[in-house]
Amino acid sequence: MTIANNKVVTIDYTVKDEQGQVMDSSEGGAPLVYLHGFQNVIPGLEKALEGKNTGDSVTADVPPSEAYGEYQEQAVQQVPAAAFEGVDDIQPGMAFTAQTEQGPVNIVVTAVEGDTVTVDGNHPLAGKTLTFEVTIKDVRDATAEEIEHGHVHGEG
Ligand code: ZN
Repeated sequence: MTIANNKVVTIDYTVKDEQGQVMDSSEGGAPLVYLHGFQNVIPGLEKALEGKNTGDSVTADVPPSEAYGEYQEQAVQQVPAAAFEGVDDIQPGMAFTAQTEQGPVNIVVTAVEGDTVTVDGNHPLAGKTLTFEVTIKDVRDATAEEIEHGHVHGEG
């Protein structure tokens, strides 16, 4: 079956950055199952898989604009340590969810100097051109309910 809107697609995938470092992979875990045409996966991946068939292998280079966006300098901010209520020992690498006017944003602490904490609200893959290596395992019609909900329902 051919991948198009309203199809449920099952893929094995590996994602690499420009340096060839593996960022994410379904290897050793469950394949990814998604509903095509509903932005369940990044736009560049949907575009690369459109029109492909069960059994096909696809390699696609996806620029940041069609993946996780450009790296935004303004998403890097310095905040007072006091803003981290209930956290005694703030360390680089710690991840938090910040409530902002635009809704919840995942942030990572990148530096701590005295009472000043630098946080980065960019997606970890922002600014990266990603290479997807995909094998299409299965394509099926979505159910009416899945299309209505905009996501895949589990088996059974
Ligand atoms: Zn549902």
